This record gives sequence, C-alpha cells and structure tokens, in this order.
Amino acid sequence: MTALMSNYARIPLTFVEGEGCFLTSESGERYLDFLSGVAVNSLGHAHPALTNALLVAAKMPIHVSNYYEIPGQEQAAATLCKLAKTTSVQNDEYRAVFGNSGAEANEAALKIVRKYTGRSKVISFFGGFHGRTYGALSMTAKPEIHNGFAPLVPDCEYAAFNDDEAIARIDNETAAVIVEFVQGEGGVNVARQKWIDALFTQAKSVGALVIADEVQTGCGRTGTFFSFEHFGVVPDIITLAKGLGGGVPVGVMLAKTCVAEVFTPGTHGSTFAGSPLICTVVNAVLGVIAEETFLHQVARHAEYFFEELQKIAAQYPEKICDIRGIGFLIGVEFVPENAAKNVWVELRRHKVLCGTAGSNVLRILPPLIASKSEIDLFLDIFQKVLLASK
Ligand code: PLP
Repeated sequence: MTALMSNYARIPLTFVEGEGCFLTSESGERYLDFLSGVAVNSLGHAHPALTNALLVAAKMPIHVSNYYEIPGQEQAAATLCKLAKTTSVQNDEYRAVFGNSGAEANEAALKIVRKYTGRSKVISFFGGFHGRTYGALSMTAKPEIHNGFAPLVPDCEYAAFNDDEAIARIDNETAAVIVEFVQGEGGVNVARQKWIDALFTQAKSVGALVIADEVQTGCGRTGTFFSFEHFGVVPDIITLAKGLGGGVPVGVMLAKTCVAEVFTPGTHGSTFAGSPLICTVVNAVLGVIAEETFLHQVARHAEYFFEELQKIAAQYPEKICDIRGIGFLIGVEFVPENAAKNVWVELRRHKVLCGTAGSNVLRILPPLIASKSEIDLFLDIFQKVLLASK
C-alpha cells in the first residue's frame, strides 16, 4: 500500500548509491545508467564539481527569495546569455528568467510571446512534448494526455512535424512557433534542415517568434551547447531545464532583449526560482559542460556510439529499422510492435538502464561524461540482448 498517487507506473527498483555512469540498487546490484534520470544527470552521479557545489551551497543561505539580488543567479544568467549570443551571427543579446522545471520555462515562453506580440496563436508540432502544466500541456500535441483536462489554454494549434505544408499555418496572427529540433519524448525525431530553414523564414516574414524547446536537447546533450547550433539558426526564445542542474530542479527561459523587456516587475515570477542553492549547482554544472573541449568529447564519443550502433543494426535488419538522433540523444527504432519495450526490459534485467520513446523506439541518454569503455559495455550487453531476443 502506498500513500502516493498512481500517476507514475513505477519500476520496483530503488537506488541507494551512484557514481559516474553507475547506480547501485538497494540489493547491491550495479546498473549502467544510460537514462540519466531522463536526460537530467548530465555529469552522471556524485560528480566532484556537483558534490562540492552542494557542500558550498549548504553553508550559504539556501533560499532568500527574489526580493533580493542573488549573485549566483546573475552569474548563471550571464553564462547562458553569453552562450546564446555567441551562436548568433547578429550577436543578439539575451536575458534570462529562471523557473523550476521545463514546463515552467515553457509557460514563461508562452506568456512572453503573447505579451510581446499582442497575438495569441501558438503553433506546436505533433510528436513534440513541452510539459504537463496547463500552458505547456496545451502546447503538447498529444490528445491522449489531454483527456479529462479540458478546456485547455485557447489558441494553441498543432501542425505536422517536418511537414512543408505545416509552414503555411504560421501566419500574421501567430505569436510564436515552439519546436524541438530533436523530438525526445516523441521518438527521437530529428528535424529536417530545409524544414527548419522554411519555418524560420516564414516566422520572420509574418512577425512570429520562434521558441526552441531545448529542455531535453540543450546543455550539451547533442554535442553542442544548444541543439539549434547544428541547424545554423537563431531562435528568439530558448527554454532549458533537465541537464542544466545535473539533478537539481531548474528551468530557464532566455529571450532576445527586445522581447525580454516586456517582463517588467510583477509580470512573472516564482518563489523558488534561481535560489542560491540551485544556482550554485547550475554554475558548477555549466563550469564543466560549457567548455568547448568537454562538448567536443561528447560529440566524439557520441559519434563512436552511433557508428557502433549502426554496425549492430546492420546485423539485425529484421529487428532494427532505424538509428537516429544527434549526440547523446539516440533512438533505436524496432520493427515488430512492442519490441523496443521488450529490449528495454531485457536490458534492465542485464543491469543496463535506458528509456523508450514514441511508439517503438529505445531511447538512449547516457550521462555526458560517459566514456568509450562505458559505451562499449552498453554495446556488448545490447548485442547479447538482441541475440537472445526472438
Ligand atoms: N520540454 C521537453 C522537450 C521535454 O522533454 C520535457 C520533459 O520531458 C519538458 C519540456 C517538460 O519538462 P519538465 O518535466 O521538467 O516539466
């Protein structure tokens, strides 16, 4: 009997220790963690930078409220805005506002685009996922998770991902388009370059803003700090969360300065957002992952992982139909119905953790610190599981 609500279908496993890419269960069994708390544990478990930051933060006032100045919050914002600026050819300046989760960052985005443009329509794409709070839920084109929660936030419209006809839906009544450059929850679907180019061109021509939902893809997951860097475009608004805190709850929205200006005192806020505790950790995480050499290593390891997975896929054409993704956000699509779920269960039986996504996709999200030997361990067990599976 549990006192918890049953909104999660939990796996009966409890972890009591973690180090690097490994978690140890209550019964002392060691698991390779290639789920990373769903793209959150960017530095793996018990990383010295993260542990030290928590120790430092514990001796500070861990919370003071946004009534006062918080130097750690300023520092984190400055780092993130600088990273966003350096991706942009025009050297656009950004400003940041903190929240506590990915959904909250997207809520802030929904509010700011409406206030800035004076328009209400927001377009999102099937297969996308933006969160569970009302605005974020309303922008998530998944009718099955809307069930029973009507009415949703009005003027949230859905279009087909990677579909040229969807571009024409962006018109002069559109406040913004929200897009994941790689849809994580939806099955690791990578946006087409031409489609992204057309989307940005159309949005610009009608005065609509583009929100890049980088909650899952951001903070180095794809081998660059932001996933949009792979596409050579610069969004007006960027939302980040998951990997940013390495495990502590944080979300942030970055907006170009002209847009950011509409968030005047009293327009938006959150009690807990950007506390000294959270920002001390965020600054430590950024200190590791925002380094070019670190990101190059992620990209190199991810490329190796991808190539080896492709070799395995070529041996099992009757089982695997696609390997896709960018960096350490990898999807393996299986052929027969439910095969991804079966492989996922079998991997766990062999002490390897990962996820599933979309309809029949195994989602692999290693911590960004994963080494070649840890990748080899995954590949070895993956091959064993494939060989044994019918
Ligand atoms: N956006 C994307 C792309 C996500 O993958 C998620 C969560 O999986 C969210 C938003 C919502 O984030 P959170 O669960 O922190 O509210």
